[in-house]
Amino acid sequence: MMRDPESITVNDDARLIPVWSIVVAVAAFVLVEYYFWVVLPVGRQHHPPLGFAVYFNLSWGLLASLYFLMVGYVSKDAPRRAMSSRFWILICFVMPGGIGAVLYFLLRQPLISRCPACSTFVQSDFHFCPSCDYQLTASCGTCFRTVRATDQFCTCCGHELSADHMPARLRVMAD
Ligand SMILES: [Zn+2]
Ligand SMILES: [Zn+2]
Repeated sequence: MMRDPESITVNDDARLIPVWSIVVAVAAFVLVEYYFWVVLPVGRQHHPPLGFAVYFNLSWGLLASLYFLMVGYVSKDAPRRAMSSRFWILICFVMPGGIGAVLYFLLRQPLISRCPACSTFVQSDFHFCPSCDYQLTASCGTCFRTVRATDQFCTCCGHELSADHMPARLRVMAD
């Protein structure tokens, strides 16, 4: 049975930031810098020291662009977890100081992928497919806890994994 190549690349987090959010992030950075360097100093009585101004202005610029990268990430990441991306983008925008993003990471659901055997949607923490009983992760034949594909013995109960009739770790390697 061949494993769907999509299920391997699904964890590639860098590709989860869409181009539009990078463009908006760069634009936001330029806009913030323009405001702090050009617009704001006009009509100001006291000018802060240059070092302070550089630090302060760059920080705000980076914060603004991070905000849009975050929203872009959520818009791509939420559908993979069967969560509403519209709802979470709204939360990220409405909550001040990035609290929405923190909430998102605390509350997000496990990744959804497909069973290699029957294409049913399964969560990343499932051991077996709920539709066809296909074994999704290598697990011990006695206590059914997850084991690594390279383990000889179960780390929980000490069961010898090669004693299983078609050991799960070998089945996972063979896919
Ligand atoms: Zn299945
Ligand atoms: Zn075990």
